[in-house]
Amino acid sequence: MGVAGRAFYSSKRWDRARFLAKRRDNFACVQCGSRSKLEVHHVKRVRDAPELAFDLFNLKTLCRDCHAVETDRELGRAPNAAQTAWRNAVDELARPQTERTR
Ligand SMILES: [Zn+2]
Repeated sequence: MGVAGRAFYSSKRWDRARFLAKRRDNFACVQCGSRSKLEVHHVKRVRDAPELAFDLFNLKTLCRDCHAVETDRELGRAPNAAQTAWRNAVDELARPQTERTR
């Protein structure tokens, strides 16, 4: 994040927009419904659409976890190996016993 980005995220106007977005979304993550660690995500990135930076239609409330997933997806980053391994392990545990022993 450049100097302009830092100024943006510490501006009073962003504070206000962020609050309005969270209030609209009932102070819950729009993805998973979590009410903790909430952040406000720009649907179109500030860099790509600076004119929409404070537009409520361009903002959505996400918890930190969903925000990270969203950001990764945006950047075209593949999920990292540790995350994939963890997910596979969880899937494995979720499967019925009979299937696992086969
Ligand atoms: Zn979430």
